Amino acid sequence: MLFGASLAMTNACGQQNYDSQRAALVDELRRDSYRAEEYGAPPLSDTVLASIGAVPRHEFVPPGERQYAYGNYPLPIGAGQTISQPYIVALMTDLADVSADEIVLEIGTGSGYQAAVLAGLAKHVYTIEIVEMLGLRAKDDLERLGYDNVTVRIGDGYAGWPDKAPFDAIVVTAAPDAVPQPLVDQLKVGGRMVIPVGPVHAVQTLQLLCKDADGNLEVTDIIPVRFVPLTRD
Ligand code: SAH
Repeated sequence: MLFGASLAMTNACGQQNYDSQRAALVDELRRDSYRAEEYGAPPLSDTVLASIGAVPRHEFVPPGERQYAYGNYPLPIGAGQTISQPYIVALMTDLADVSADEIVLEIGTGSGYQAAVLAGLAKHVYTIEIVEMLGLRAKDDLERLGYDNVTVRIGDGYAGWPDKAPFDAIVVTAAPDAVPQPLVDQLKVGGRMVIPVGPVHAVQTLQLLCKDADGNLEVTDIIPVRFVPLTRD
């Protein structure tokens, strides 16, 4: 019963019960991921869903947005940017196929939420944000919440992070009109890059790029998406 279900999401004093909201979101993502198969997206793995279930998304959104933190949609985070829709975070994490001994690069820290979801699966996450205010806030939030395997840097992610390369996986959460060559160069053989590619402020294509032993990229188009643009310094 919908009414009863929504009542369970707040306590007697009207406070949000984030744990039950998050559990409901994970169930919704599991169901939706089977529907997304018809568009060519894989069903989400239990490992990725568990990582989504472990990250307090409400801690990564501005206080005024917290009541909406477990809806399956993007939310504003300031500076004209957004925290991505949970399904897209889960899908990109799934495609990145990260394991516990792997090093990940994320471009577009934003709120820090995607980095936190990756941090639950990887050895270390390096993440770059071009807007200083967002990068500093995400760094504080990640530290406060105990994510000690995430390093945040302020800068233009187009150039990647050469000092820490090569990476097992690269997740790009802002859209360039073509895949940045420095990121391709910084991907390990056997590595995966997940990136929305396409025109600014229009529909882009979420692509999965896998690097083979000869350094060639196998490119798979996954689904249409809409991301904020990858800006340049
Ligand atoms: N991953 C984020 C959402 C990203 S929104 C999250 O989980 O909340 C995209 C982010 O990419 C924005 O914060 C934007 O400022 C940032 N961005 C855009 N161009 C960039 C660039 N060239 N280098 C690094 N970050 C960039």
